[in-house]
Amino acid sequence: MPHAISPIPTQPINSQIANNAGVEISVLRLDLMHPTVNGNKWFKLQYNLLAAKQQNYTTLLTFGGAYSNHIYATAAAGNLLGFRTIGVIRGEETLPLNPTLSFAAQQGMQLVYVDRETYRKRHTPELQEQLRQRFGEVFIIPEGGCNLNGVRGCTEIVREVQTAFDTVCVACGTATTLAGLTLSLASPQKVFGFPVLKNGDFLREDINNLLTQYLASDLPAPYPTPAPWDLVCDYHCGGYAKVNEQLLAFSQEFTKIHDVPLDYVYTAKMFYGVMDLIQQGFFPIGDRLLLIHTGGLQGNLGMREKLKQQSIVNSW
Ligand SMILES: *Cc1c(COP(=O)(O)O)cnc(C)c1O
Repeated sequence: MPHAISPIPTQPINSQIANNAGVEISVLRLDLMHPTVNGNKWFKLQYNLLAAKQQNYTTLLTFGGAYSNHIYATAAAGNLLGFRTIGVIRGEETLPLNPTLSFAAQQGMQLVYVDRETYRKRHTPELQEQLRQRFGEVFIIPEGGCNLNGVRGCTEIVREVQTAFDTVCVACGTATTLAGLTLSLASPQKVFGFPVLKNGDFLREDINNLLTQYLASDLPAPYPTPAPWDLVCDYHCGGYAKVNEQLLAFSQEFTKIHDVPLDYVYTAKMFYGVMDLIQQGFFPIGDRLLLIHTGGLQGNLGMREKLKQQSIVNSW
């Protein structure tokens, strides 16, 4: 598929903080893979789209919030690969459309709005049946691409990385990406996940469930046992899609010094957490860190608008 750039670039980060702590940092730039279909969302989509094609579906239906990177990527990938797409969006329609939804609509995605209560039923067979009755034969991809096909795609993220590394760091929403990563590393390589939601510890059970189901399936795994993983739950900065002054300041500074743009919902929080942990001596001397840039930069447009309205940020 649409890897415009292959292999995916790995960018070394020359950081005084890391030098002082004796650790090395590289960033795997999934954000650079393709102009619109990039980041971990492409990896989570690829085997879902393949399954849809093999089962002769012509329409994809999926779910997301109004700023969703997954909605954006599904609209773009569907358009590129010749699928009709339907996005079931949480909440009411707001006009003019925000940049995410306006892009999705331009890609041909049909946007359907449902109230929060209905949205909560998105995983139930009842709602899915209703959607099939309304829209016909649709291939349903869960919110965020969180299923075993999604995990499978994420086992390929580090496949072509040429730089040697010991420790992978990744931001977590559903942790589908983290699950795929743990199956593609050779212990003692390990993964730290940084949940962007509050009280992210609940993800441990989700990760274990995904891994158990994956290993019980006949899907291929590069390694038969998951590499060690752990979660660092202290860098959510107030919760999902919330930001604070420290995070904004960190993100702008990091981008300026290292020329890596970060999104405020996911990657900024993970990078912030990693740099803070490095200063605390969390990683052993000699550790070679691989930070996964999972993309999501499209979301910054909408986030900036929101922050301006709340006058948290005037300086942009
Ligand atoms: C969706 C997303 C994540 C979270 O991925 P999960 O597999 O749900 O944990 C991380 N970073 C970015 C930029 C994303 O868009």
